[in-house]
Amino acid sequence: MTDMLEMPRVHECTVTDCGYNHDGCHAFAITIGQENGHQNANCATFIDTSAKGGLDRVIAQVGACKRSDCQHNAELECHAPSIRVGPGQDIADCQTYQPR
Ligand code: SF4
Repeated sequence: MTDMLEMPRVHECTVTDCGYNHDGCHAFAITIGQENGHQNANCATFIDTSAKGGLDRVIAQVGACKRSDCQHNAELECHAPSIRVGPGQDIADCQTYQPR
């Protein structure tokens, strides 16, 4: 089991419309999801709001990832050293996603 302190960090998020993004992602942990029938790995924590939230001193980490087909995924946990999030097929996609 992955130690919580070793969870992958969100190294960069360029989705400035997200309520958790102010100079990077400040959510405690994000979830990467999977839209039915889509090939992308979207950030399910994204929220389109002008209100800013999250925790000031936090660098977000990947709490859960549903993309079991990603090379970095084992037992629905991400094992990449860190990830990047940005616009892709969706407004906020995991850009580190690598299908097997
Ligand atoms: S790199 Fe792969 S396993 Fe890690 S968050 Fe992105 S899609 Fe999920």
